[in-house]
Amino acid sequence: SDLKTSVENFRKICEEEYASVPKVVTPGPLKDAPAPEGATVLFDGTEKTYHANWVKADRKNSKAHWKLVDGVLVMQRGGYIQTKQTFESCQLHLEFCTPKPAKGDGQHRGNSGVFFGNYETQVLDNYKNYTYPQGQCASIYKQSRPLANACRPPGEWQSYDITYTAPVFDEDGKCTTPATLTVIHNGILVQDKTELKGPTEFRGIPSYKAHGPLPLRLQDHGNPVRYRNIWIKPIK
Ligand code: MG
Repeated sequence: SDLKTSVENFRKICEEEYASVPKVVTPGPLKDAPAPEGATVLFDGTEKTYHANWVKADRKNSKAHWKLVDGVLVMQRGGYIQTKQTFESCQLHLEFCTPKPAKGDGQHRGNSGVFFGNYETQVLDNYKNYTYPQGQCASIYKQSRPLANACRPPGEWQSYDITYTAPVFDEDGKCTTPATLTVIHNGILVQDKTELKGPTEFRGIPSYKAHGPLPLRLQDHGNPVRYRNIWIKPIK
């Protein structure tokens, strides 16, 4: 009877998960999004902005190893890249493009990620590609499904406008106000001041550890996702 209960419970979880797959919506048009006043341009297609702002996210902060091809940043194996500068609450704009032709399924298709420290907004090719909702494109990975699936097809440029509010910690390092992420994907609000439970965990329950300003990081998940037009603007 224990086995029967377990199977029943598992079936229920799967049904709930499947029933709540975010609706596919037609995204808005991709608009020019030049950096506004007060923003730092982190990448504008030039070697200059790339190497001035980015390093390989290893212990030595070595030279950034992703490739610049025709003014576009292309993910290369060997790890994440991250900004030299660190950030508190801020607004971020970037554009990304998943590989065409699409290769692989589920989490193995066009996977990358936009991280503030260890808080991930997922980048994934979910155009006619099913995965679990809390892992799909524009999810807060393993914490919050997007309100809609606003993906464009592989090979087309897509935009993220992300607002990050930094968590607040008390003197003992306890989190008193959680971090939030608001994500607009291709013009559509998909995360609405979503409160984070802690850093992104692949398995297990997230829990906060006190921290200060964080670098912005882009994920190496093995797929050659491309990025362009990246700027960031502190709030306040
Ligand atoms: Mg990812």
